[in-house]
Order: sequence, then C-alpha cells, then structure tokens
Amino acid sequence: MRMSPAPENSARRCPQCDAQLNNWIACDSCESLFDVDRPVTHFELFDLPQGFGIDHELLSRAYRKLARRVHPDRFADGSERDRELATRLSARLNEAFQTLRDPVRRADYLLTQLGGPTAAECREVPGSLLAEVMEIREKIEEAKSKGDSSSFEALHEAITARRDSTIHGIEALCAKLDGAPGETGRELRKLLNSMKYFDNLLSDLAGDPLSKSTVSVAP
Ligand SMILES: [Zn+2]
Repeated sequence: MRMSPAPENSARRCPQCDAQLNNWIACDSCESLFDVDRPVTHFELFDLPQGFGIDHELLSRAYRKLARRVHPDRFADGSERDRELATRLSARLNEAFQTLRDPVRRADYLLTQLGGPTAAECREVPGSLLAEVMEIREKIEEAKSKGDSSSFEALHEAITARRDSTIHGIEALCAKLDGAPGETGRELRKLLNSMKYFDNLLSDLAGDPLSKSTVSVAP
C-alpha cells in the first residue's frame, strides 16, 4: 500500500488498482490511502453538498465508513508512511465530523469557507449583548452571595434559552447565505462571537457548588 497523491479529475480512479474512487482519501477496492493534496473541504470529504442544512444520517454514515477505511489499526503492519497517513487522515476525518455535526461550528466553518469574516477579522458582538451579559453576571453574583439555588436554576434556564435562541438566529442567517456573505455574514459572525459569552456564563454556573445536579455543563 504505497502512498499516492489524490487524483484531481472528476472521474477519479485509484492509481494502484484503477478502481473508481468514491472518496478523496481511500480506495474501497485495494484499500490504498491517499494524501489529500488539494484543499478538500469538510463537505467534500463526506461527499455532502456545501451548505448549512445537512443530512445528519448521511454525515454519520459517511464518517463511519471512511473512519473504518483509515483506522490506524488496519495499518499497524503497514509501512511507516501508511501508518503516519492513517493517523493523519483519521484526525482530519474526526475534525471534519465534529465540525459539521455541531450547528455552531458548522456555521462558523461555512462562513469562513464562503469568505468570512472570520472571528479574527470581526470581533463584534450584537449591540446589546455586553450589557445583557453584565446584568446576568450581577444576578449570578447575587444568587451566589445569598446561596439561592432556585435563582441559580432559573438563571441557568434563562441563559440556556438565550443560547438556544442565538443558535436559531445563526441557523436563520445561514439559510440566507448565498454566495458572498456580505452584511448577512457580518451579522452571522456577531452571533457566532456571542456564543462564547453564553457558554462562559453556563460554565460559571456549572462550576459553582450551588449548581448541584440540576445544572449541567454547557456542551
Ligand atoms: Zn485501489
């Protein structure tokens, strides 16, 4: 099983056995692995159309199939190159799968693929967010100082609801993305930037002894 570069043309065939290739990284016929020598997107990797709405069943099936093909255990007796490639392709697959299965990471990835702005290019958040977060922080501190676990629970619910509504906003903006992201992309980036504020608030709550078992850590 020698390492070969992935063929470029659309009717891709395995350079080792000439079988038709059904994916970018492994031959289903002779089990050769290929280095991905062009920027294959996460969507291409799983043969999914690029877009926010994805078929999760198809994604999981494609992931499982490819993960089996490139599993390092299969190449334990192979060449050093094959073993290294299997490890690297497995990591690449995992990264792609984790990114696409999560709506926030998927939206972030899609926006970046379409031209951004990336998180580094736009650090803005929606106008009212910082004041809102500050107010929630004050309520958390107040509940902590009073040892008020029912307020704690209510705050957890309220923050989770805000987080969920932000995800819905992200989904709605993603549905409007078509070609260059423009102003929609900027609004989307602001919502994506705001997610970490809700996650921080939730982990702050979860880290406090008051949270008991009713408050779980944000995903
Ligand atoms: Zn082959």
